[in-house]
Formats: sequence, C-alpha cells, structure tokens
Amino acid sequence: MNPIERLTELFTRFPGIGPRQARRFVQYLLVQNSAYRASLADDIKKLGANTFQCKECYRWSVKNGHTDSLCSICGGKNREKSVLCIVEKDADLENVEKSGFRGLYFVLGGTIPLASEEVQKHIRLRELLSRIERDGPKLLLNEVILGLSATTEGDHTRLILQEKLRPISEGFNFKLSSLGRGLSTGSELEYADPDTIASALSSRT
Ligand SMILES: [Zn+2]
Repeated sequence: MNPIERLTELFTRFPGIGPRQARRFVQYLLVQNSAYRASLADDIKKLGANTFQCKECYRWSVKNGHTDSLCSICGGKNREKSVLCIVEKDADLENVEKSGFRGLYFVLGGTIPLASEEVQKHIRLRELLSRIERDGPKLLLNEVILGLSATTEGDHTRLILQEKLRPISEGFNFKLSSLGRGLSTGSELEYADPDTIASALSSRT
C-alpha cells in the first residue's frame, strides 16, 4: 500500500467517514505545506501523551501537570454525588453539563445496535454495574438518569439498561429515571441545545 492508499484507509476507520471523504482528506493534506502536516502529526502524537481517561466516568480529559486519574467533574467539589447521569459519549456529557446538570456522569462508550445480543461489546455495562454496586451505598445514590438520545439505538439501549438496572435500583433504593419531554424523537443529545436538555432533565420520569 502506498502512503496515499494507506492514509485513505486509516481515515475510513474514523466514525462516519466513507472512502470518498477519506480521499478528500488525503487530497487536502497533499496540497498543504509540510510544516502543516508535521504540526498535525505532532498534535496527534501529543494527544496520547497529554490526555487521560477518567477512571470513574471514562471521559477523556487533558492532564494538568500532575498524574490525574479523576477528571475535573468526578474529582470536583460541589457536585451532587447522589445523582448519576448515564450518557453515550463525551460530547453528550459536555452538552448535559452545559444544561446546568451538577450530578456525576458515566460514559457508556456507545449504544447497543438493535440486532446485537452482545451488550458488553458495545457499552461499558460491566464497569457501570460495578460502579453502581460500589458507590450506590457509599454515596447514598438517590437517582440514576438514563441520559440517552431519542434515537432508535438510544431507545433500545435505554430499555436494556432499564432491565439490567431495575433489580439493583430496587435493592439499593434509588430512582431510575429517563429524560422526559423536550427531546423530540430522533434527536441526538450531542446536537440538542442546552435549554432543551435542561427541559428534558426537569421533566424526567
Ligand atoms: Zn470523571
């Protein structure tokens, strides 16, 4: 494989990128100067060295000079630790945060496709369950909010999580809720405006 084909193939592995778009990216890079390409390659290299994944919520954060293991939210004071909001991805978390939510989060890392039986392959179910089992009694967990998009896969994932979490919620006596009105059918949390999310949060059931 020559460098053009190789890079095109690498770009097609990006989420939502097909071969045509991948080729356009490579064409774009070909006409840039070498300083731009070198700086881009350098930024990609630094991405690994300067970031970490929070061991509690699994979101990615930038290191602040010391060896972090908790992100600013999980390690932050003034958070309502009895409320846990489960989201699909980092972008959703950031959007819920903008709506004014001040509880804690857990990033699933994906949604469960309709046809799939293998839940753990798509989301961090095991990690979620062990976190709730560990923190449920310790933090006096009051509520777990299923903050999923109003899409087909989001709905499917919510149903599976409800099934898995309901017995635990009864055992630990916390409320299991979902986003309510406000988020219209088909809307993704990532693109919803903060007011819409705030309204979906306040009408959660
Ligand atoms: Zn965190």
